[in-house]
Amino acid sequence: MSFDLRAGLAAREAALLYRRRQMACSAQQPQRQFADADLLTFCSNDYLGLANHPALAAALARGAERWGVGAGASHLLAGHSHAHHALEEELAAAVGRPRALLFSTGYMANLGVLGALLDRDARVFSDDLNHASLIDAARLSRAHVERYAHVDLPGLERLLQGSEAARRLIVTDAVFSMDGDIAPLPQLSALAARHGAWLMADDAHGFGVLGAHGGGSAELFKLDVDALPVLMGTLGKALGCFGAFVAGSEALIETLIQQARSYIYTTAMPPALAEAARVALRLAREESWRRDKLTSLIAHFCRGARQLGLPLLASRTPIQPLLAGSAERALAWSEHLRAHGLLVPAVRPPTVPAGTARLRIVLSAAHDEAQVDRLLLALESMPGRG
Ligand SMILES: *Cc1c(COP(=O)(O)O)cnc(C)c1O
Repeated sequence: MSFDLRAGLAAREAALLYRRRQMACSAQQPQRQFADADLLTFCSNDYLGLANHPALAAALARGAERWGVGAGASHLLAGHSHAHHALEEELAAAVGRPRALLFSTGYMANLGVLGALLDRDARVFSDDLNHASLIDAARLSRAHVERYAHVDLPGLERLLQGSEAARRLIVTDAVFSMDGDIAPLPQLSALAARHGAWLMADDAHGFGVLGAHGGGSAELFKLDVDALPVLMGTLGKALGCFGAFVAGSEALIETLIQQARSYIYTTAMPPALAEAARVALRLAREESWRRDKLTSLIAHFCRGARQLGLPLLASRTPIQPLLAGSAERALAWSEHLRAHGLLVPAVRPPTVPAGTARLRIVLSAAHDEAQVDRLLLALESMPGRG
């Protein structure tokens, strides 16, 4: 492979896989200004409509007055503040675990956990549709990786039976980021228990959204720390902030503090951001009308999409993909919606498997029914749908 980057880019363009960014000129909310158009967006992970909430912005500003901007150091040197510590305790309580540990991002949390828990002698069992950060984390851990077909429990059980490693970790997205379906965590937990393995769930899209109090998939399925020993959640999606955490036993968290390289060798998140996340967590827990509204918008969208005979995947979460198949068709659909003033990007390989390019429609409590109706109306006139 040479460094002829232009040829690589041209090949990508020719395959319709070139990615371009949209430049926003207004804050995160459904109707947004972009550099070249005003668009109604259905592609943000701001599921509860908190990213642009005045109480969060005020907490961030107050936090900056108290703490300044930078944490100044890693958590193990001088970067760990009362703001971080309080947020960790509140997150642990929110997901019903003894302890929680903050990471700068979900990507780094996944790298940190797998790296700290696994070595060459370990085995990791990974769902085929897991998020890229889990795939990279498994690779970096040097453990032997066994991939199982998407939520194929019998297939996973066969792999578990065929392995004798002392440390065996099943890792899964709790809500699959590109399909929106929910992993069968109780069954995965039972499998793990039967075979003496551990289960880790990446709840990036469940935390804040699932469960009566937004405690995520652990709350939805009532899985305690023994049933689900490693739980990762993020603060950048439903909580509208930035950052991530891992929750679990005292021993797990202390192990991560000693050994998770993406925790140790990086600057702590700004304490002001931790203050904003504390407010976000409180709002996410207390204002359950946000989850109720989201649920009713999802039902409204699904009803309308079914009536139109759209190729909807089976999802009851805010992630509602429409399967296009080819990248060409997904792009045509996305451009059609854009011509109607809507922003729904086409998700193409390698983010999703070849032949499964799609429109990834994402709903938020910040939308209203009239906006969802606008989306449905535009989908109705989409070329070559179904
Ligand atoms: C977004 C996401 C991550 C990464 O979280 P960041 O905080 O954005 O780095 C990890 N896992 C899944 C499933 C995600 O969707």
